[in-house]
Amino acid sequence: MNCHECRYLMFDLIDDKLSEDLRQEMESHLDECPSCAQKYDKMKARDEEKEKEEKASGLFWYLLMPSGGFKRFFFVGAIFTFILVMALISVQLNKPLFNFF
Ligand SMILES: [Zn+2]
Repeated sequence: MNCHECRYLMFDLIDDKLSEDLRQEMESHLDECPSCAQKYDKMKARDEEKEKEEKASGLFWYLLMPSGGFKRFFFVGAIFTFILVMALISVQLNKPLFNFF
């Protein structure tokens, strides 16, 4: 396998779409070829980062646009409560309004 083939197949290796034979060829090329190995590491790191981002935004949309009304109610309620608590804490720190806190 040469560098051109190796770089062409890199995405498939990261996505684990290669056959066993090709995968072994890729791995032996990556062992021998530092420049491809470096490129592969970079691509893999970028791919993992992208996956994390996708998971995070997936969770965001799941919470923001749930199929049931209850989840949205819960989500908005949680945000509202959080803001209310933060506001109360900041008020308490600057000038206490309630003596019982
Ligand atoms: Zn190479």
